[in-house]
Parts: sequence; C-alpha cells; structure tokens
Amino acid sequence: MPEEKKAVRKKLKANEDMKKFMADYYYELDRCAKTGEKKVAWCTSVGPAEILRAMGFVVYFPETHSAMLGSTRMATDMIPNANAIGYSPEICSYLTADIGAFLQGITPLAKAYEGITTIPKPDVLAFNTNQCRDVQDWFQWYGRKFNVPVVGIRSYRGVGKVTESHVLSIAKQMEEMIPPLEEITGKRFDIDELKRVVALSRECSDLWKKVLDTAAAIPSPLTFFDGTTLMGPAVVGRGTEQANDFYKILLAELEERARDHDGAVEGERYRIYWEGMPIWGRLRAHSELFGGLKASVLASTYCNSWIFSAFDPADPFNSMARAYTELFIVRSDGAKEQYIKRMLDFFKVDGIVYHNARTCPNNSNSRYGMPQRLESETGVPALVIDGDLNDLRCLSDEQTNTNVEAFIERLAGSKQPAFA
Ligand code: SF4
Repeated sequence: MPEEKKAVRKKLKANEDMKKFMADYYYELDRCAKTGEKKVAWCTSVGPAEILRAMGFVVYFPETHSAMLGSTRMATDMIPNANAIGYSPEICSYLTADIGAFLQGITPLAKAYEGITTIPKPDVLAFNTNQCRDVQDWFQWYGRKFNVPVVGIRSYRGVGKVTESHVLSIAKQMEEMIPPLEEITGKRFDIDELKRVVALSRECSDLWKKVLDTAAAIPSPLTFFDGTTLMGPAVVGRGTEQANDFYKILLAELEERARDHDGAVEGERYRIYWEGMPIWGRLRAHSELFGGLKASVLASTYCNSWIFSAFDPADPFNSMARAYTELFIVRSDGAKEQYIKRMLDFFKVDGIVYHNARTCPNNSNSRYGMPQRLESETGVPALVIDGDLNDLRCLSDEQTNTNVEAFIERLAGSKQPAFA
C-alpha cells in the first residue's frame, strides 16, 4: 500500500493577483451592463473572443460562470430547473446548471463580488461549435430570452490534419460576423485593432504555455488543480495587457519554484496526467486524495486547451481560424493520441487518469478504446474515473477513492518513480 497522509498542495503567491484580476474583470462587466459604457458580448470559451474585444465589446464567458456554479457546489441543485423546461439531464451540465441558475435567479458572482447581483445582460452572443453543439443551443436559449442577436461559427469536428480548406472556410465565417457586430456597436471594424488584440492574445497564449510547461520540472511546481483556476485570465482575459501582466508574475514564481526544486506536492513520487474535464465540485478533495498518495497531477489536456500557438497578428483571420481548429477537442482520435503521447513524454508521466464525464462526451476520450490503445503503445498505465464536470449525482466518491488508491498502488509496483 503506498504511503498515505494528508498532504496539501502549496499555495502560490500569484493567487492573490489572480483574484484581483477576476474581480476587476467581473466589476467591469457589471458596470458596462448597467451603464451601457461598452456593449456586452457573450462568447464561448474557445470562440472568437479576439474579434469581439477588437470591436470594443466587454466579453463574458458563460462556461466560466457555470464552472463557478460547479466549484461552489451549487450546480447539481440547479440542473433540474433546466430539465423541467426540456433540457435533458444527459446533455452538457454546464448548460443545464447555468440555465437552471438563471431560471432560479441565482449566481455565484453575487457571493464572490459585493454589489453584483446578476450576470451581465448580453447585447449579442457569439458561439463556435468547435467544442460541441451544446454551446449553440445554450446561447440560442439566452438569445431568445433576452431578445438579442446570436452569431456563430459552425466548425468542423473530428479533424485529422488541419488543411487550408478548413482554415479558409472558418476564416470566412469569422469575417461574416463583422457586419452584424458593427450594427450592434455602431462603429466600423478596424483591422489594426484586431491585429493588436491578436498579438496580445498570442503573447497570453505563449505565457500560459510557459506556465504549464514548468510542470515538466521534477518535482513539478504546479498541479492541474492549481491550473484549473490559474487559467481564468487566459480564458476570460486573453487579448488584454492585464492578463499578460498576471502571467508574467505567475511564471516568475513558478520558475523560481522549479529552480529551487520546490514541488507543489510534498515528496512527489508519482507524476500523473489528467485527461478530460475537471470535476469542479471535487477539486480540493481530489487534490488532497492524490497529494496524500504523493501523486502530483501535474498536466492536463484541459488546461492546455487555451494555448493558441497559431495566432499571428499579420494574418489575423486565417491564423485565428487555424488556432481554433487545431484545438485538441476538434481533432480525430488519431491526432489526439499523437498529442497525448507527446505530453506523456514531455511531462515524464507515470500514469494517466481519464475522466469519463457523463454529460460531456466531447471532452471524454475513454469511450472508444483510447486508454487501452495508448497504454499498450506507451506502457503508461491508465485509469478511468466515472463522474461529471458539474453534476455530482454522476460520481461515487467512494469508488473514485478506491480506484485511485489501487491505481497508485499499481504504479508503485510497476515503475521506478521519477522522483523519490
Ligand atoms: S465541451 Fe462539454 S462541457 Fe464544454 S460546453 Fe460542450 S458539452 Fe459542455
């Protein structure tokens, strides 16, 4: 039996900077929605935020709001409200929790930020189906509710190699969003402003990649559980100077930790890769579970999803189209497997945990034999955890704990750990 004691991941000083960033972000949104100082656009998390920002919108991301519902453990109780108006318990629990909370007049923003009582009312909603169709249905529901326009990009899915024809078709759809957005803002689109925003987004992406790559150090200065909150500015603030300033501070702290061999998990023995969505309502419990077994869950596909290395300010539309199509979630199983193999190697991983999220088949890669294929090709042991991102009725804590403990025991027996 591997050694077990309550070990907690060490806190990062930059967390305070991140909290301030998120507070400033939500207060600006709230102010703009109340005063009309700037128009409010809602956007999907891997959608065309750069276009919206360059056109002067403040940008709100419903997925981040729903993740807050999950991490505050409010989500499960909200889901039945959406089920009651016809949205199945089997579909995305970000959608059902978020719409359910709206129907009940509840938001976790009210608890986190004094003076904010509601989510910011949109002037327009912009989606990209590169991640799933659920976002389109989600945004269209709010479009009807608020009687505001919904614009969208219908993306490819299951893409092997990203080709020129994929890029040109998505870029064209992005360009076609401009006239309806101009009508809403009453201002002309400015290509130089878009180039400036894409340059900032690219810098944000590069900084975020460097942050995540520090986890390759042994021991890792960063865990996936830290990453799920530290990624906030990359999701909601890419394309702004403030997000980049935050990541410079965070990167400096992590590089110092890596130089000092100061691991996020005390006495790191096992290095774990997380594949799939976080279980938002169990972040702390899972951090303690793995940390207590001296297992550092140090890298993930999920946090890497906000790396957009193709962004090029000299060619904004085509490069955005490429970046938003090269994403892991958009790709074929073959392309995903190649990617995961590179990650296992780069982060010197001992074991991989797949989260089979009941309501998100799009971000669950354990259903068609991938864990078995990758394990036989790489020799890296795999574990599948059944659960969900937001609906806590879909998981059994007891079963998860037992399975994780058995998995770490298997790693202890099968492999010389990278660090002891
Ligand atoms: S990718 Fe999954 S979690 Fe995200 S919006 Fe789509 S169905 Fe929901």
